[in-house]
Amino acid sequence: MNAFAYLRADDVATAVRAITGDGTAMFIAGGTNLIDLMKENVERPSRLIDITHLPLRAIEPTGDGGLRIGALVTNTDVAYHPEVERRYPLLSRAILAGASAQLRNMASVGGNLMRRTRCAYFYDTATACNKRTPGTGCSAIGGFTRYHAILGAGEHCIAVHPSDMCVALAALEAVVRVTGPGGERAVPFEDFHRLPGAAPHVDTNKRPDEIITAVDLPARGFPQYYAYLKIRDRASYAFALVSVAAALRTNSDTIDEVRVALGGVAHKPWRDRAAEAALSGQPASRATFARMADILLHDARGFGHNAFKIPPAKRAVVRALEQAVAVNGGARR
Ligand code: SF4
Repeated sequence: MNAFAYLRADDVATAVRAITGDGTAMFIAGGTNLIDLMKENVERPSRLIDITHLPLRAIEPTGDGGLRIGALVTNTDVAYHPEVERRYPLLSRAILAGASAQLRNMASVGGNLMRRTRCAYFYDTATACNKRTPGTGCSAIGGFTRYHAILGAGEHCIAVHPSDMCVALAALEAVVRVTGPGGERAVPFEDFHRLPGAAPHVDTNKRPDEIITAVDLPARGFPQYYAYLKIRDRASYAFALVSVAAALRTNSDTIDEVRVALGGVAHKPWRDRAAEAALSGQPASRATFARMADILLHDARGFGHNAFKIPPAKRAVVRALEQAVAVNGGARR
């Protein structure tokens, strides 16, 4: 690990001032990802700006009926917060499907949004990786790809986003609040993370001099019909091969609204609004869900070892939607 300077910021303005114009400085909160990356020499910040003392640990109502979660609230505190459990159980389930209890106790909401991929080549500085060192190539293409993308990937990077929490936030249409030198702005969740394109080293549309201050959940939390289904190599403490966050509103036997976000398959949580819109008014049946899975995975493409993920991804979509409509005993077939 390289030597680095340390600065503790006690308010957001100080944190923004400290990071502005210093391209090698980084924020640190829970450190559950960044410390690993520093030990592996993947990240080599010249200065760490400790933001753990910023006043961003509240969970409070928003003016429009939603819930604002401060960026420093731990994953555990979000998952077990009574209002989150009651109004946004999909988010609780997704968080508890990720990492370990110890990591969830340390990891912050803002840090979870900024997690880097778990691509093994990204962590191995002896290999080429466009995400770690732009322009060097992608060792995963032609390499070991079991955990890599089947949607939205390109010739420069086929990594996936590693978060479970973010898959639920995508389905819930959360909004990310960031503050920079120009003030505060709100970023719709689907615009926060990026597909790799020709610049896979850029994970998000947050500017380098901005800090995440909160995540806003909208008023609609889908507490009746929801499911988070995670397919992985072992039952706990493993990253998703495929995960599905499903949320529905149903009217008798037909679908009023459906949202499906996929994890473990792309560089960002994957949604297809056209596929979701096509199901509005359709029967909440296995045949409908299978049609949605076919649409969602229509453009899926494997890269060697990960081609096996496409059929189980389709089955996971169907099963998650079936589980969602069965929540609260309201099974419809
Ligand atoms: Fe790097 Fe992305 Fe290729 Fe992995 S998939 S080696 S992160 S460029």
